[in-house]
This record gives sequence, structure tokens and C-alpha cells, in this order.
Amino acid sequence: MDFQDFEQDERMIARERLPEDRDEKGLRPLTWDDYSGQKQVTDNLKIFIEAAMRRGEALDHCLLYGPPGLGKTTLAGIIANEMGVNLRITTGPAIEKAGDLAALLTNLQEREVLFIDEIHRLNRSVEEVLYPAMEDFALDIMIGKGPSARSIRIDLPKFTLIGATTRAGMLSAPLRDRFGMVHRLELYKPEELRVILKRDADILGIGIDDEGLDCLACRSRGTPRIAIRLLKRLRDYAEVRGEGIINKEIAEFGLSQLAIDNMGLDHTDRRIMTSIAEKFLGGPVGLETLAACTGEDAGTIEDVYEPFLMQCGFIAKTPRGRVLAPAGWKHLGLSCPADIDRKLSGLGVSNSGEITDNQISIDEMMDGRNGEKS
Ligand code: ADP
Repeated sequence: MDFQDFEQDERMIARERLPEDRDEKGLRPLTWDDYSGQKQVTDNLKIFIEAAMRRGEALDHCLLYGPPGLGKTTLAGIIANEMGVNLRITTGPAIEKAGDLAALLTNLQEREVLFIDEIHRLNRSVEEVLYPAMEDFALDIMIGKGPSARSIRIDLPKFTLIGATTRAGMLSAPLRDRFGMVHRLELYKPEELRVILKRDADILGIGIDDEGLDCLACRSRGTPRIAIRLLKRLRDYAEVRGEGIINKEIAEFGLSQLAIDNMGLDHTDRRIMTSIAEKFLGGPVGLETLAACTGEDAGTIEDVYEPFLMQCGFIAKTPRGRVLAPAGWKHLGLSCPADIDRKLSGLGVSNSGEITDNQISIDEMMDGRNGEKS
């Protein structure tokens, strides 16, 4: 089948929240027992929450970063639930003026959790109100104008701010420094996604067998939001083309209809890789050039597509731009250039696309500290 023809299915694999994800709320775990994966983050958080509870204090401010759909909002909900307090949810772009944030903060109760999604998109004047709020639990407000202007300080309840971002590097240093803990969420392993899928299939009453679960877990780009979306689509194939149960056959049929290949890549992933291969002979190519050639937004390539392609070892990011690693050539069914090893080692990338001294790590990529010159 020609995967290029499936433009409309791009949405299937989008990590950001789409209208069809509106029933996500009912699936969102509320306790640690239902939250799978991210072991290091959850182990630490459990300790910090217990310690804060024993002292009767608010939890320290916490920054969660990682690609969309990995469970940042879910974690914030669990934290609030474990602390036995309310969760107030907002997003960076929704807080337009300093006054909006002041209103939010003054309405918080003691130890409550304020969750700000896309915190890197807060504007500077709003951010400045946040500094004393986070550090001293106080708001500084200017009253009057000109020579008679004076500043008064209002005390705030001790609250916890949880910030979520896909780009920790876009946060200003003063804001980043005010978070007592910073946790990076990782893409999920298939066995972790399998547990999530099994639970969600039970909640939604979707019949799926072991092989169906394996197939779906391996092809969801390590992202629960995508896994859940695919599960719901495959249910439709199972009901119309099968006997209501998602088995291996239905899963493979449905995923191929949705143009998702055996690694979980969609046509945009393949277009990015094919552009690097065909237009730039394997790279290196700069992000902006790649974005212009593929018609994708540079930020979307960086946030949504690259982390998974890098995890698969298909592309690598070097100080001079993106390169297609041997596994990437192979996946596209193209033969690797003869000088690939020499080229990669000159760029500080191992043959398997793994990080060596010179290469930009996924961490740095998430931070936007890519130092890319081309
Ligand atoms: P983010 O805020 O990072 O974009 P969400 O917290 O909205 O992601 O997660 C998307 C969906 O994926 C949630 O509705 C939830 O059902 C599911 N999910 C995410 N992480 C987990 C997890 N670790 N265990 C179970 N379900 C999860």
C-alpha cells in the first residue's frame, strides 16, 4: 500500500489533544496504582508527597517536561489527589494579563495544586508575578500611577505550582530555577503501554486479545494518548470487519488502513526521513530547512516527530543538523550511502545512531539547547 496517500490520518498519530480525545477524562488514572510506567518520576514523587503530607506542608513546585500525551496532566491530577487537595488547571496562553494570574492565585486554598500547561508560553509580565508567588507566597501589586504609585504585598496561601512543558529550554532561567523539582517524562515501553491499553479497553468495554494488545502497544509511538486513540479506531474495524474483538488480524488490518507502519511511523515521519535521504543525501540538514522542505512546522518536527525517530535510532541530531542513521535508511528500504560510517563518525554519531560525545542528546533536544549551526 502507498503510505503517502493518507494525509487525513495524520491526526491519528498527533500527540496533542484532539476533539476525539474528549472522553480521555474518564480514562485518566486518579491513583498511583493505575498510572503505569515513568517509574523513576513516580518513585520520587511518592516520597516527596509523603514527606510533605507528614509535615503538613504544600508539595514543592514541580516542573514536568516531555512530549505531549505522556501523562503530565494525569500526573498533576494524581499529585493533587494524593495530597487530598483540589487541582486547578489552566494553560500558559490562557493567562493573558498579570491580573488574570493574580485572580487565580488569590482564589487558591492552602496546599492546593495549580497546574499550568504549556508554561513556556506565559508572557513575561505574567511570569514576573509568578516569581514572588512561587518563592515567598506573596503578590506584589502596584497601586496608583506616577510619583504617588506604591507597591503593596498580599500574602498567598502556600500552594503547589505544577508546570508542564514540551520545551523546558524555552522557560526563562529565573522561572526554571524556582521549581524545587524538575521531572522529565520518557516515551513508554511497549510493555508499559500494554498495561495502559488493557486497563482502558476494560473501562471502555472494548474486546482485545493478547496479540491485539501487543500489536497496538508496539505501534503507538511510546505515547499513551496515541495508543488510546488507536484503540478506539481499531474497535470500529473490529465491529465492522471482524467479530467485535481486536485480534492480531484486525489490529494489523486497521493500522495499515490508518497508514501506520510496523514501527508505528506515519506518513509524516516517513516524509521527514525521505526528505533527509533524497534531498540532502542523508544530511546533515538544519531544522528550518527540513521544515521548509516537508511543509511541517519546525516546532512540531522538534516536539512531536523527532523524539520518537531518535528513540528508534532512525535519525540523529548533530551540531550541524539532522542525519539519517543506517537503521533509518534500512527502514525506508533504501540502500545506505557507502561512506555513511565515515560521515557519521565525522559528525560524532555512532553507526546505530546512538549518542556519542558530539551529538545532541534527547535531553538537550527537549531543552531546545541544540546549538545547531546549519
Ligand atoms: P499530557 O498532559 O502529557 O499531554 P495526559 O496526561 O493528558 O498527557 O495523558 C493523555 C492520556 O493518556 C490520559 O487521558 C490518560 O488516560 C493516558 N495516560 C497518560 N499517561 C498514563 C499512564 N502513565 N498510565 C495510564 N494512562 C496514562
